[in-house]
Parts: sequence; structure tokens; C-alpha cells
Amino acid sequence: MTSTQRSSSQSFSTLLLHWWDTHGRKDLPWQQNPTPYRVWISEIMLQQTQVTTVIPYYERFMNSFPTLQALAEAPIDQVLHHWTGLGYYARARNIAKTAQVCRTLHAGVLPQNAEALEALPGIGRSTAAAILSLACGQSAAILDGNVKRVLARRFGETEWPGKLAAQKRLWELSIQHTPKARCADYNQAMMDFGATFCTRSKPQCTACPFVSDCVAYTQNLVATIPGKKPKKAVPTFTVAMAIIRDQHQNLYLEQRPNEGIWGSLYSFPEYADLATLQSTYSNLPKSAEIKTSTVVTHKFTHRTLLITPVFLQLANDRPTIDAINGYWVKPHHALSQLGLPAPIKRLIQSLQDNP
Ligand code: SF4
Repeated sequence: MTSTQRSSSQSFSTLLLHWWDTHGRKDLPWQQNPTPYRVWISEIMLQQTQVTTVIPYYERFMNSFPTLQALAEAPIDQVLHHWTGLGYYARARNIAKTAQVCRTLHAGVLPQNAEALEALPGIGRSTAAAILSLACGQSAAILDGNVKRVLARRFGETEWPGKLAAQKRLWELSIQHTPKARCADYNQAMMDFGATFCTRSKPQCTACPFVSDCVAYTQNLVATIPGKKPKKAVPTFTVAMAIIRDQHQNLYLEQRPNEGIWGSLYSFPEYADLATLQSTYSNLPKSAEIKTSTVVTHKFTHRTLLITPVFLQLANDRPTIDAINGYWVKPHHALSQLGLPAPIKRLIQSLQDNP
């Protein structure tokens, strides 16, 4: 490291810590009693999700699963139910798996070294470093989305951070500027600074402690850093779903396979198209009422799903449907107890609102 880099490094962390002492958030739920378990759950929930959205989910989760032991013993359905609405459900399945692995291999606690943490399902390099620094008093560099944006702008990394070479350079910058002392405050400050100050669309450059050295600001590149991901067309998928109700207004739901989208969540029977759905249910009792409804659009990060809901109201018994592998449940039970994908939850809610 050159002397210029060293002095820049010292002043970056010093300036950032100074900013955090005055402006940083210190009352977030996971900052109170920051055990490895509590920090881990918050870090996983905060991936791809904003703080204000996470807080109520986090508090409900901690009330139900206050310890890693409680989480390891919980049925997966219960864990997924607490995740309903947060999206990216692989995160919930991974934390359940990790809790069980820790119970078996690590005496019921998260290990306190990077290698062992990174070997656990769903824990990457940055999450492991966040746990070690925020909860265990270790100095470890992090690199989440907010940190990437701050470092890329301040030090002029113009390439898309998803590119391997850019990511490598950002890790080097993060390691170079992470201090040995006050590392927990520094990492918290980096996340806060990116989330509240050096934001994606409205950074507060004129009030920024780095303004005179910031490459993005001084070279008028703030709007173009971080570099954008090369655009690919977002594919669209269509499915038809059978929303079946019996004469007591129970709904028919199936648990999806563990792998694939919405793994282990509950959903309506799904068919490749309307014709396949209709032929599957062609032998329903004559008293059944069949209604096709407006297409529901659900956007994932990499694709768009168009769902055609078909409502099947059974007036009598349900012999045909009982042959299928699924469950009959009351809508309120599904909404309060089961892990549901967001559009399925909305469809069930709409049934409750307009029975
Ligand atoms: S000057 Fe603007 S772009 Fe640069 S670090 Fe500060 S807030 Fe971010």
C-alpha cells in the first residue's frame, strides 16, 4: 500500500465513523443485544429487502424463534409462514437448514470463524463478515449492495459490480478501508451510509463528508456509478391455476416441491395452460361452477409470470378432487398458518373479501 493510499484509507474510515456517530441509526431491533443469531437473521432478511419492510418481519420472527435452538426445532412450514411476503424463499429454507446443521455440528450455536460460517447454507462471505464484526467483535470486511455502491462511487469503480473483476476490486477496497478498531461501527456505518445517504437515485452529495475526494462526484459520474447490468429481455411464463372451493368454502392447496420457484410453499394446482386445466377437471360434478378470472401478473427478478386463475366452486362433495395429493383448508387458516407465495396470498385474500 502506498502512503497516499494509507492516508486515504485512514481518512475514509475516520470520516465515515464521524458521520455515523452523528447521523447513524442505532435503534434498529437487531442492533439491540446483537448476538450472532440475531445478527444472522437480520442480515439474511435484509438481503434484497429494505430496513422498513424487514423490521416487522424480524420482530415477529424473533418472537416465534427467539433462539437458534427454537428455529432448529420449528417445522419448515412455520418458518416459511413467517417469511410469507418477504420473497426469495430460498433464504428461509436455508436458515432452517443452517439452524439444524448448527444444532448437529456446532453445539447449537453459529461458529465464530469465517470458514465455518461460509460453509453453512445461505451464508456468503459478506454475511459471515457481518456476523463476525457486528456480533463477535472481530474485524472483517463486508460487501453488500450498499457498500458496493459507496465504494464504487467514492473510488471510481465504473464497471457493473456483478462482474467478477469489478467485484474483486471492490473487495480489495473494502478490505483496505476496514479498520481494526471499531469495525462493528464502521460496517454498520457503511450499510447505513449507503442505505440513507449515498442512495441509488438521490445521494446527498453536497452534504457528504467525502465530496471533495469522491471520484463519482468530482467527475460527474454519480448517475452512472455503479455501472448497470447489461440488459437481457425478461422472459414471460404463463400458467393456469385451479382455485377449487368445496361447499363449505374450504380451498384446495398443494405443497410445492422443495426445489424450484416457491419451493415448499403452498399453492393452487398449476397447469401449463388453460386447455390442460380444463381437461383435467372435465369430469367434475355437473353442479360445479367454473369461472375464468382476470390474468394476474407477478414479476420475479428474472422473469414475469402470468397466472390465469380458474375458479371451481363445488356444490356437493368432492370425490374427484380428493384423488389429488393436496389439502383442504379454510382461507383464514391458509393466510395465518401456511407459507404462501405473494400472488397466491393475494388471490386468497380476494376470495375472503369477495366470497
Ligand atoms: S459525494 Fe455523493 S456519490 Fe460521492 S460518496 Fe458522497 S454521497 Fe456518495
